[in-house]
Amino acid sequence: RINGLSSDRTLVYRPELKTRAQSLLRMEQELGHAIENKQLELHYQPIISLSTGAITGFEALTRWFHPERGTISPVEFIPIAEDTGLIMPMGRWCMNEACRQLSEWIRKYPAASSLKMNVNVSNIQIAEDDIVAVTRDALYQSGLQGDRLKLEITESALMDNSDLARDILLDLKSLNISLAIDDFGTGYSSLSYLNRFPADTLKIDRSFISQMNNSEDSLKIVHIITNLATTLGMDLVAEGIEEESQLSILRNLGCHAGQGYLFAKPLSAADAEELLKNSGPQAN
Ligand code: C2E
Ligand code: MG
Ligand code: MG
Ligand code: MG
Repeated sequence: RINGLSSDRTLVYRPELKTRAQSLLRMEQELGHAIENKQLELHYQPIISLSTGAITGFEALTRWFHPERGTISPVEFIPIAEDTGLIMPMGRWCMNEACRQLSEWIRKYPAASSLKMNVNVSNIQIAEDDIVAVTRDALYQSGLQGDRLKLEITESALMDNSDLARDILLDLKSLNISLAIDDFGTGYSSLSYLNRFPADTLKIDRSFISQMNNSEDSLKIVHIITNLATTLGMDLVAEGIEEESQLSILRNLGCHAGQGYLFAKPLSAADAEELLKNSGPQAN
């Protein structure tokens, strides 16, 4: 009964590994109930036009408020959700909630009428869920127009399953939504896919922005990406702007838009709403 494999496993057994595995397992189980227990919440980070200073939209970012462990970062729980398939119900919840929220804000505040809502979509959702149906349902349920929604996907989602991804993206575009490539510059180096996929926006990864001041190479990369976006007629958003000096470099390079702690951290729905209440109609 006891084969070589299981006895090998017994030999390498270490209690601390068991503890880690158990804690991961517990986190998986708890994450599975986080939606129904109302522990997930979306926060909204403003995206700002660098030429006018106006808010052009929000990026929806999921927060997990755990009753004992406090706030758990998406950097920690998104990979678990992806490994376990929980990213599917979570992604649907996120899409529905983000569309519902913007739709409500548009009804209540003139300042919200021209805003877009950005929603992050995991590679797993592209590969394994019917993301087109999920998006269509969210628009239908919320009454949000497709042109108010932008999906953020990563380069690897496009490369992993390129023919499938292209068809899916074309179907998404037929819903009138826009597409952004998130964390641009950190994934695959081949640029040929930019022609093959109907993306509207590049989001320059925060790592380049944070290094611009002390790394000539990062500055050059940001410069090249800015030119690339301009040449291809794409919109450009710089992620993670924290300092005035970064803002002025980006403005000089002609980068259109940005987000970062310099402008605002991701805000609770109530705080984002306060912001909309206190601003007039946005001209953008
Ligand atoms: P991302 O999509 O690249 O989102 C931007 C991240 O940068 C957010 O982290 C945001 O809070 C952070 N950030 C924005 N400005 C600054 C800044 O000035 N300085 C610094 N240090 N950070 C800044 P967050 O919310 O922790 O999310 C991390 C990642 O988790 C996201 O990266 C995204 O890949 C993933 N994620 C978050 N929510 C969702 C979701 O609902 N669905 C999916 N699939 N992924 C999500
Ligand atoms: Mg994003
Ligand atoms: Mg990003
Ligand atoms: Mg990022």
